[in-house]
Amino acid sequence: MRCNACWRELEGRAVSTSCGHLLCTEDANKILTNDGACPICEQVLSKSLMKPVDTNPNEEWINMAMAAISPQILMKTAYRSVMFYITQRDLEMQYKMNRLVAQCRQKCEGMQAKFSEKMDQVHTAYQKMGKRCQMMEQEVANLTKDKQELQEKFSEKSRQKRKLDEMYDQLRSEYESVKRTSIQPANNFYSRHQEPDFFSNQPVNMMENREPTRKG
Ligand SMILES: [Zn+2]
Ligand SMILES: [Zn+2]
Repeated sequence: MRCNACWRELEGRAVSTSCGHLLCTEDANKILTNDGACPICEQVLSKSLMKPVDTNPNEEWINMAMAAISPQILMKTAYRSVMFYITQRDLEMQYKMNRLVAQCRQKCEGMQAKFSEKMDQVHTAYQKMGKRCQMMEQEVANLTKDKQELQEKFSEKSRQKRKLDEMYDQLRSEYESVKRTSIQPANNFYSRHQEPDFFSNQPVNMMENREPTRKG
């Protein structure tokens, strides 16, 4: 048997109530000094409605307690005693069930809290990733724009280079043709003016004539 208030095992002295409940002596005293209500069914209790019992009676009590009592009363008492026992078992079962349900609920609430926390973390991480993706998309767009601009610049520069190449080729061909047409008269010029000076006795004139040769 267990106390219906604190549910500890009862050994020896206990208190039974008129409402059919069983208490340890400590809880029975607490009820009497406080509001006087049964903790199970809340019926108002007084000392006269509470009876001390021995849950573990000795042999002498067993032998003598029911002496001189008629079988009818004995049977009635035994019936009530068994019914009391069954009710106690029901109460204990109910108490255990309630405790189990409370534990499960507590566990579920803990799991739900953890789950919510994890969900919040995942949601935050998801939002962060979304922002990062947006930033990366923006970066890709900027890079694509830069690439297009560079390609355009490159095309423009290539066009300019081709133009310059063409101009260079044209100028070169012009230069070659000018060179070809001017090489004969130049040789004539040197042969006419320079070579005879080598053998003259005028060094000043010779230096003046040598100047264009070095530059050329
Ligand atoms: Zn108790
Ligand atoms: Zn009660």
